[in-house]
Amino acid sequence: VLKGTGSGVLPPMLEQYVALRDKHPDFLLLFQVGDFYETFGEDAERAARLLRIALTHKSSRDFSTPMAGVPVRALDHNVERLLAAGVRVAVADQIEEPGSGLVDRKVTQLLTPGTVTEERHLTADENYLAAVATGDGYALALLDVSTGEFRCAAFHTRTALYDELARHRAREVLLAPELSGNPALLADFQTRFPVMLSPANFDEEATRAELKETLGEVPGSLTSAALVRACGAVLAYARVTQQGRLEMVRRVVRFEPGAHMRLPDAAVRALEVFQAQAPQGMTLMDVLSETRTAGGRRRLRAWLRAPLLDELSIRARLDAVEALTRAADLRGALRALLYRAHDLERLAARVSTQRATPREVASLARTLDLLPEASRLLEAQDGLLGAVRARLGALPDVVTLIRAALVDDPPIRIGDGGLIRDGFHAELDGLRSEALGHRAWLAELETSERARTGIGSLKVGFNNVFGYYLEVSGPNLGKVPADYRQIATLKDRARFTRPDLREREREIARLETSAQRLEVEVFTDLRAGLAAHADALAEAAGAVAELDVIAALAELAVERGWVRPQTVTDGARLVQARHPVVERATGGRFVPNDAELNDTRHTLLLTGPNMAGKSTYLRTVALCALLHQVGSFVPADHAELPVYDAIHTRIGASDDLAGGRSTFMVEMSELAAILHGATHRSLVILDEVGRGTSTLDGLAIAQAALEHLHATRAHTLFATHYFELTRLESEHPGLVNLHVAAEEDAGGLTFYHQVIPGAARQSYGVEVARLAGLPAPVTTRAARLLTALNAGGDDRKLTRELATLDLSRLTPMAALEILHTWQREAQRVAEGEEKEVRSL
Ligand code: ADP
Repeated sequence: VLKGTGSGVLPPMLEQYVALRDKHPDFLLLFQVGDFYETFGEDAERAARLLRIALTHKSSRDFSTPMAGVPVRALDHNVERLLAAGVRVAVADQIEEPGSGLVDRKVTQLLTPGTVTEERHLTADENYLAAVATGDGYALALLDVSTGEFRCAAFHTRTALYDELARHRAREVLLAPELSGNPALLADFQTRFPVMLSPANFDEEATRAELKETLGEVPGSLTSAALVRACGAVLAYARVTQQGRLEMVRRVVRFEPGAHMRLPDAAVRALEVFQAQAPQGMTLMDVLSETRTAGGRRRLRAWLRAPLLDELSIRARLDAVEALTRAADLRGALRALLYRAHDLERLAARVSTQRATPREVASLARTLDLLPEASRLLEAQDGLLGAVRARLGALPDVVTLIRAALVDDPPIRIGDGGLIRDGFHAELDGLRSEALGHRAWLAELETSERARTGIGSLKVGFNNVFGYYLEVSGPNLGKVPADYRQIATLKDRARFTRPDLREREREIARLETSAQRLEVEVFTDLRAGLAAHADALAEAAGAVAELDVIAALAELAVERGWVRPQTVTDGARLVQARHPVVERATGGRFVPNDAELNDTRHTLLLTGPNMAGKSTYLRTVALCALLHQVGSFVPADHAELPVYDAIHTRIGASDDLAGGRSTFMVEMSELAAILHGATHRSLVILDEVGRGTSTLDGLAIAQAALEHLHATRAHTLFATHYFELTRLESEHPGLVNLHVAAEEDAGGLTFYHQVIPGAARQSYGVEVARLAGLPAPVTTRAARLLTALNAGGDDRKLTRELATLDLSRLTPMAALEILHTWQREAQRVAEGEEKEVRSL
């Protein structure tokens, strides 16, 4: 019942509104009333808030309810805003011309954030709808209805599931009742993902039936009830929003999360793969975006989300990229072709669901037209490029079919007519030429009637009320022949018709309507014929996307001087490596660095002042490792890299405000995940661990974590401002100190961004504070405090050394030497303190 005031007797139109809305309880109903789409009651309040439109009232004699509406022409724009806000939208249109009574209306579109397929609602990237069910672990189904991509996977832990969901940026997540019914779990999901609470049907029998209906069977790869339920539920939900049409979904691909490098969501974020931390910052994806097609861009994102573990597959991609780096002409020609390609994956999906407009079918033809040329260009290629070529060539000649049937520049809408080419369909040609004959007769009419009547100013005109008419001006009215029948009188002229004129006119209308109907039929047949090639189309679309990525990576490698990494087993070695994003931002001023990690140096402890370039160095190594396993060249002069099973990162302090966890809590839980997950084949990047708590706590945790990682023998890069850690080098073989060069002189601190062996001399924290503009009295006071604290540190160092001295083996001479060293140290500290005091 509609929220409102009054006797509760609804006017008939609102009765109709309530009836339609009740059929789609989880949707916000936009209800066409003339030139507006209206919402009423609570929906109106919601729409007004989300769309920032005026809230008014719909009032009749004994009922009043809130109302808010948007103009019909602004529908798309407003639907997009609602979808972006995570709202599901139902659109009810008037399906008959307004007459005297209540207009009939029908829900014509159900739109949800994860299931839109209209190009105008879609961003260029993928649009996933997800469903999660549990059983033995978690099952995830991911569906992109705009391309028909349908994948699923099983996970043992919720963390792994979260990582996968986050990486796919699902726009809508459906939860099985066993999850949504658990308040704590539900809340946890809701803080992370756009969970849609709806009666999505996860019932096992129903989901089995849905799978049979869509895919013809319950695929054997769905080995658990949870997988069946997640996959079936996602399809059933999508089916409702697609008005029953799911032909674009042809198969489900079960992927093994373990088949790819583990790249936790924290790492994806820290490495700024898809999203920069600074609002306007650049991402790795931005740097790599040399793709020329929307499908290529989606494929590149997919490759980045799932780096490879299999050495042969990595090599195959690198071989293909390398082949195109060497062949500049071929690369240029391929990229020029790709530039002209439309989004083949989405077009193929729209053709297979019989939704494609005439214009989209024409785009499909234009794109398919490019394939023989691409295939010819790839003739001499083997490996991955050879395979791409084979997939491009497997398409039967549908272009000829489309070209023969469709005019070159067809209209968007089917019903508008004028889309089928002359000469394609005999009956249509007949209808058209007959209508043309009548039109020619009409065109001649003015001349022939002028001659017959002798009225030189006689005109043939047309308007919507009378159709064709003969117009005669006042002075000539006497000459009007007897077969004219007057239909309108104006001030100085009159309009006439003739029975045969009416007849012709009706005939033209009849012929044109039949022609239009026939065109719709012919087009629908054509589209159905194309749908029969959906598999081959999808295959070709995939090949084009892959080719685009390979060509883009090759272009990038050449443009930016990247090298092919060698896959090795005995460690990582990077010469003159650069951070691909920072390099671009700093222009030619970027300072490249080397990196070496192996069994004798697997834990690198990096010290140096803030802003020296520690994080950048860490990320450089991680990004090179990631790019290698994606199959890309890397930004370095020389690169040898092992296949890492995972890249773990803990970088920077990011607040999880939405999740309500403190910075330190977030940091520690991320650290926990790393310490549990890292193996000797992992790459671990830790930046400033322990920053979120007190110094001593932080230092203790940092050291313990470092020692733990050292024991796993994972390749670890550990940047820290805790100098105390640098002494660990002498105690732990395999742990090596590095620092970033900086120099302090009278003018302050100079950064060289160069990573060199050994520990940093001091932290320069106070210097950096001075650079940042902290008031002079504050930095001076800080410098004094620091000296005092350092003296304390020296005391501690002394105590430690004293405690470990083995006096029973010490000769008097050696004892004296040690004492001498200590004294020198103490004098140095005292001198420093004095200097500090004098400078005040
Ligand atoms: P840290 O982690 O030591 O505080 P960052 O890695 O965040 O320092 O670097 C600080 C800034 O210095 C970066 O934003 C970048 O502009 C610059 N920078 C870092 N490394 C380099 C480099 N190798 N060459 C040139 N500029 C660099």
